[in-house]
Amino acid sequence: MLLFEAREQVAHYGREMLRRKLTTGSFGNLSVFVPEAKVMVISPSGVDYDQVGAQDVSVVTMDGVVLDGQRKPSSEADLHRVFYQNDPTVKAVVHTHSTYATLMACLGRPLEPIHYLIAYAGAMEVPCIPYYPFGTMELAQAAYEGMGQGKAVLLGGHGLVCVGPTLSYAMDAAQQLEFLAQLCYRAAVVGGGVKLTEEQLANAFEAVKTYHQPKERKS
Ligand SMILES: [Zn+2]
Repeated sequence: MLLFEAREQVAHYGREMLRRKLTTGSFGNLSVFVPEAKVMVISPSGVDYDQVGAQDVSVVTMDGVVLDGQRKPSSEADLHRVFYQNDPTVKAVVHTHSTYATLMACLGRPLEPIHYLIAYAGAMEVPCIPYYPFGTMELAQAAYEGMGQGKAVLLGGHGLVCVGPTLSYAMDAAQQLEFLAQLCYRAAVVGGGVKLTEEQLANAFEAVKTYHQPKERKS
């Protein structure tokens, strides 16, 4: 099977997405980029994550051609492809509809730096773009541009996208930023939290980078 290890990894992290309560059923999607082959390996469309095996995961070229996989690739394949095409540092993309991140996206409110875990965003906030129809190139372009220099963006009326150098990073970012979204929402209810400064967060940004350097799960 073409790129078995990468496909196993995507299947594994799909189950992780369920286990970490970042999605239900088959919603959301995730991928990794394989630089040697210049392809992305992406979760299938409409298959529950606990039913996905390596054979169901799609191998897709940067032109959008499906090379292998028994299922149709995720309907948000362009949303993943646009990051790999434009940013060589991005090797993994995770997209979720987790509750609080999606709630903040529905409110059109960025995530602010009220907790040090904003460091996972690689920026001082997680911006929120306006709504664009799901599964479109318009949404993909707007998400890429809206993310700027950071590693996460809220999609208005839709959900969250996180990118990173590994799937492990992008998945942890999706989980920690869901927690931050919950804090931002709850803090807003009582008048808002205290925003931390770039200076205060300097060590957190560094720690997140080094914490994630050595590890990448293979299965
Ligand atoms: Zn979605």
